Formats: sequence, structure tokens, C-alpha cells
Amino acid sequence: MFDIVITGGTVVDGTGGPSRRADVGITGDRVAAVGDLSRASGARVIDAAGMAVSPGFIDTHVHSDAALLTDPQHPEGILQGITTEILGQDGLSYCPLSAENYRIYGRYLRGILGDPPEGIDTSSVASFREAYRGATAVNTAYLIAHGALRLETCGFDDVPMTGDRLERAQRLVREGMEQGAVGLATGLSYHPQAWSDTTEIVEICRPVAEAGGVYVTHLRDVNTDRAFGNGGVPEALEVGRRSGVKVHFSHYRTAAHNAGQVKERFDEIDAAGGEVSVSGDLYPYPTGSTFPASNLPSYAHVGGPDAIIQRLKDPRERRGLVDHIEASMKRPLVEAVLSYLPNHPHLEGMVMGDIADSLGMGLGEALCHLLLEEDLQIAFWGTPPDSVNVWRQVSRDSQDFLARPDFMVGSDSIHVGSFPHPRAYGTFPRFIGRLRRRFNVLTLEQVIQRVTDNPARRFGLTGRGRVEEGYFADVVVFDPDRIIDTATFDDPKQHPVGIPYVLVNGAVSVDQGRLTGILAGQPVP
Ligand SMILES: [Zn+2]
Repeated sequence: MFDIVITGGTVVDGTGGPSRRADVGITGDRVAAVGDLSRASGARVIDAAGMAVSPGFIDTHVHSDAALLTDPQHPEGILQGITTEILGQDGLSYCPLSAENYRIYGRYLRGILGDPPEGIDTSSVASFREAYRGATAVNTAYLIAHGALRLETCGFDDVPMTGDRLERAQRLVREGMEQGAVGLATGLSYHPQAWSDTTEIVEICRPVAEAGGVYVTHLRDVNTDRAFGNGGVPEALEVGRRSGVKVHFSHYRTAAHNAGQVKERFDEIDAAGGEVSVSGDLYPYPTGSTFPASNLPSYAHVGGPDAIIQRLKDPRERRGLVDHIEASMKRPLVEAVLSYLPNHPHLEGMVMGDIADSLGMGLGEALCHLLLEEDLQIAFWGTPPDSVNVWRQVSRDSQDFLARPDFMVGSDSIHVGSFPHPRAYGTFPRFIGRLRRRFNVLTLEQVIQRVTDNPARRFGLTGRGRVEEGYFADVVVFDPDRIIDTATFDDPKQHPVGIPYVLVNGAVSVDQGRLTGILAGQPVP
């Protein structure tokens, strides 16, 4: 007698091997049997005839650190079949931070993470991970956030992390890895991370390498003069070479400006030959999303949120910020779609150029005005390319990236505001359904391996990523012919179809396409 038997489905087990007709028996939080269970019984029987039965999907890059605690049902993730999310991305997270630094960095990050959750202990990876135990719909893994590490050891300041500061940072990393972090993440176009140099990253990655963890990086395009090889991919590979750490490239893909240049992108990350263990993730959309406070010049971040606000208020300082914004991001900014302005929700979904016109201001002035009004709490995303051909090429490229055996899927979801980038609702069914069927580059078994066993192995998520006896019962039942994303750039908050059941640790979290409200997520591994 099993707790649950999933009968009549085709098991796509996560390994990439051929799918096969089999029933799945679940006892407690584990898969207890896979095979012909027609003579067995279950307290609950789920009919999966005509359906695929696969491991739960693992999102390797997502900004749900706060959203999972403030909206624990997390429909946008779990309804896609996501059962595990890896947090701490781009180094933009809350741990390790003292209570005072949590207050400061929590405020700074509101444009991407939303309001920081109250009543959590961010002082250690152990205590922080506990906040998610049984408190959210999905499992969570954590990457030590470089931003937090730097704030904790160097303050919100452009100073080198050396001597005592470095020793303390290394100790925090070592402790964090012992307490279950799966690696360390940085985003070198964000602050305070961008005040680092390459040697700092190498040094804080040493304890990650010793613990077998992964260095996850959003590549540097700020303060490139202090980086090996001018930042970007060469710096990341140098970190791998010198520290021995595994290197994982976040949202590594093509976009409108380099559509079709897949081979060039591959050559870059393969430049270290076998010397560095590399992997990467991507989402299948032609444009990205971020928080515009991060687009201010490097010096403007010194001192943190209070100091940034003072600079925005000071007319002379503000002139410099406006000039910087207009010089560095005029073209993308005019078409940027504002997704999150909690004090001006009626502007969510509007294009920045139109808002500037209605305010009678230039683009940079309008953005500074809004940053002040919102106390920095703004997110936006880029409009897709005008050319359908370019868009199609980027979609086609995404298949070549995912065809690499060392690639996986990171949605880069930003779960704030009423008009989010559609990747927050559609990434996984878009890859597994729409793009697989349209381009026929990957088999179903391959796509599923990339979103299950592949990330589980890379990030050391023991007992996850396969439908196999003894593995945790994170299971998705979906219709391989019908699964598809429905979220679009003009109507982003739409859940996918073709995914009737999602189980997390043996609990039925999505039942006939509906949320059950069960919060079965655990900190993993
Ligand atoms: Zn990100």
C-alpha cells in the first residue's frame, strides 16, 4: 500500500534515457517504486494516462528570496512544475547579514526582491535556510550572496577586501558551505559586488572549491579596469583556474545584438579547455529585466540607500546621475517597460519614454524622479526586438544552448509588481513545450534532463532530479503534446497549461491544475 500511485503514465526519469511506460508508487516523501504497480494499491491514485511523469523542475536562477516568504503559495513557480529554486542569485540576497545590514541591504534590493520579509534571522546560512522550511510551496537551495558578504565585511563602500576583511569573508563562506549552501553567487554589475577585484573573487571562492560548491556568476561589466581580462567571461574563467572552483554562468545566451552567434558564445566559455569545470543556464526570451537603481554609476552607490537618496535630491549631483543614465542606457531606457513601482501602480506596464513625456522630463531626469518617489523600489524589463526574424533566431539559439550537456534553465524571475517580465510565468513550459515542439532540436528526454538531473548533480542536490526508487518525490505530471506557456510581453501574468499535477516531497501541491495550498518545500540539499 502506497500513499500515492501515479498510474498509466510515461516516466521521463530525468537521466536523459528513453522514457517508458511505468507506474510510480510514493510513500511519505519518497519514490518507493517505479514499474508495473497494477496489483498494488494507493491511498490516492492519480491517473496519468497519456501524460509524462517527470522529476520536478529545478530553477537554477530566480529572485524569489523574499517572494517565497511573503507569498508562500508561489503559483507562478509551482504551476510551471518548478519544485526547487536556487536562491542568492547575482549575490543579491540577504545572507549572511547582521540585523542592521539586513535593514540596509533589504531596502536597497526592494526593486528586485520586493519588501524584505520581517522576522527572519539572516545572520547565518543555517538560520536563514530555516525560514523556508515548510513555509513555502517549493524547495530552496542557497548560494551565499557576494553582496551580503561584502556589506558585512567592507560596508557599503568602495574599499578592497583584504587583510582582516578578507579573512572574515572567507570564514563566513566556509561556515555557510558547512551549513548547507551549494555555492557562492555574484553579480559584478551590481553593488557592492562591483567594488571587488578578481583576486577578491578568487580568494572567497577557495572555501567554495574546498567544499565542492559552485561559483555562480552574472558577469562583470562595471569597474572592468579592476578585473582580469576586463571582466566578463575571461575573469570568471580566471577565478575557476586560480581557485579550482566550478564556474556557472548565469543567463548565458544570445539577444538581439548577437542573435545567431552561438558558436562565438560557446568558444568564449570553452576557452579554458578542460582546465575549468563550466556550466550555464538561460531563459528563452530575447530581453531581460532588472532594477534601475543598479544602473546608477558606481560611485553613486557608496554609502548605500540613504546616500543614494541624498545624491538624487542634490541638484548638482543629480545632474551627474542624469548624464550617466542618458549616456549609458538611453536606447534601451526609452523602450523599457516599468514592471514595479509600488507607489505608482498605475504606471506599471507603461513604457519609460511615454512616462518621461507625460512628466515633461528627459529620460534620465524622469528615472531619477521616479527613483526618488519610490525610494529606489522600481523594476523594469526590455521590450522584445522589432524584428520577428531576430526574435525567432534568439529562440532558436536557446535550443542550441540547452542542447549542450552542461546547460540548464534559470528563469531569472523577478516576482514583483503587476506587470512582470513573462519569464516569471512561462520559462519552463516554453522550453519543454513550445520551443521543443517548434524547433525539434532536443528530445523530450533531453529537455527534462536539463531541468532535473543536470542541475541536481551540478549543485549537489542529493536525492533530487530523478524519478527513481529512493529519490524524493518531487514529481510533475504533464501532457507532453499540450504543455505550453501562455504569458506574453503584453499580458505577462498568465499561468501555463498542460501541467495537471505537481508533487513536492510527496505532497500534492497542484491537483488537477489547481493549487492545494500545501507548503511542502524544504531547504535542500
Ligand atoms: Zn538574475
